[in-house]
Amino acid sequence: MTHPFAAVLPAAGRGTRFGSEDKLLMNLCGKPLLWWTISVFGESPRISWVVVPVPPARLHKFKGLVASWEFEKYVQVIPGGAYRHLSVLEGLKVLPEETRWVAIHDADRPLLTPELLESVLDAAERVNAVIPAVPIKDTVKRVDLQERINETLPRGDLRAAQTPQVFELKFLRSALEALDPNEIPTDEASILEKIVATHAVAGSYENLKITTPEDLEYARWILAKRLDRRLEKGLRIGIGYDSHRIAEGRPLYLGGVQIPWDKGLVGHSDGDVLLHAVIDALLGASGGMDMGHHFPDTDPAYAGIRSTELFQRAWKDLKKEGYRLNNLDSVILAQEPKLAPHIQEIRQSLAALLEVSPNLIAVKAKTGEEMDSVGRGEGMAAHVAVTLVAGSY
Ligand code: MG
Repeated sequence: MTHPFAAVLPAAGRGTRFGSEDKLLMNLCGKPLLWWTISVFGESPRISWVVVPVPPARLHKFKGLVASWEFEKYVQVIPGGAYRHLSVLEGLKVLPEETRWVAIHDADRPLLTPELLESVLDAAERVNAVIPAVPIKDTVKRVDLQERINETLPRGDLRAAQTPQVFELKFLRSALEALDPNEIPTDEASILEKIVATHAVAGSYENLKITTPEDLEYARWILAKRLDRRLEKGLRIGIGYDSHRIAEGRPLYLGGVQIPWDKGLVGHSDGDVLLHAVIDALLGASGGMDMGHHFPDTDPAYAGIRSTELFQRAWKDLKKEGYRLNNLDSVILAQEPKLAPHIQEIRQSLAALLEVSPNLIAVKAKTGEEMDSVGRGEGMAAHVAVTLVAGSY
C-alpha cells in the first residue's frame, strides 16, 4: 500500500501566550481542542499516517489520551523537540518511506475544515509546496523599538500564512536538516520557499490559531455555529417501538439491566426490548435506517449479542455525526414481573449508555391490564421517544 500523504501536527509548544500548558486540552464544544484537530486528519481518506509530537515530559499523558479517543486511523504520539521545526523533524523521521507529501498543521488550529484540507492536498499534487493563506484585512505598519511607525506595507500583496502546509517530504526533510541551528523559523514554508516554488491557496479566516484565551472563545462560537448547521433544525425527534415474546429459561434484560425472573425475552440478540426501541428512536431522530438494517437478525455475527454492544456501535456513529441526547422518555409494557423496584437502575443504565444525567431519562412501566398479548403475559413491548441536538455545549 502506498502512503502518498502523511500529517505531522506539532503539539509540543508551551502555550506561553495562552497562559496555560494545557491549551490543547481545553474544552471546545465538549471535546478537547486537540481532539478536533486530530479528527480532521484522522477522518481524511487521503491521509494515511498521523504523527503528533508532544512535550517529552507529557508523552505518557498524551499517549493515553489520544489512545482513549479511539480514532479509527493509527495516530502516533512521539516526543517533540525544543522548537517547532525540531518537533516536525522528529515527526518526519517516523513516517513510512513511501510517503510522498507531508502536511504540517498547527495542533492549535482545531477549526480546519475537511474541505480546506482537501483543497490544499489537491494543490500539493500540482505544485509540490503549498500553504493556505488569507489576505490581510488590517493595514500593516512597521515600527521601531519606540513603536514609531517607519513604514506602511502595501497590503495588496500581503498574506497571513496558515496551515496545513503541504510539501514533498524529501524537500522538507533536507531543508530542515540543512537549517542553521541559530535559525528558528515560525513556519515550514519560510524555509522551503527559498528552495522551491511555494504557492498560496485560499485559506479561511475561520481556520484560527488558538493563541490567546479570546481565540478559544471565538473558536467555541464558530464551532457551535457549525455543529448547529449540521442539523437542518436545532432539535431532532425520534420514536422507537419493539416487542418480544416471553419464554422460559431466557434471561430478562431491560435497558441493559438484568432483571431477576424465571422467564425472559426471546430474540436473536439478548432480547432487550427497551434498548432495541431506544436504538430505533436514536436512529430515527438522525434520519437513518432502522436497527434491523444495521444489525440484521439473519447475520450470525449478532446471534446472542448483548444489546448494549449493539447500542454502543450505533451510538458511536451518531456521536461522530455530532449528535448528543437532549432527553429520552420511555414506556415498558409488561404484565409481569413487577418493574417498579428496577426502574431507577434502568434509568441509571440508560443515562450511562447515553452519557447524560439520569434527570434527562424517564422510564415508566405499564401492565396490559390483562387484556391484550402483553396483558396475557405472552410478550413485552417498549415505546421510546428521544430528542437529539448537535454536539454543541
Ligand atoms: Mg428487538
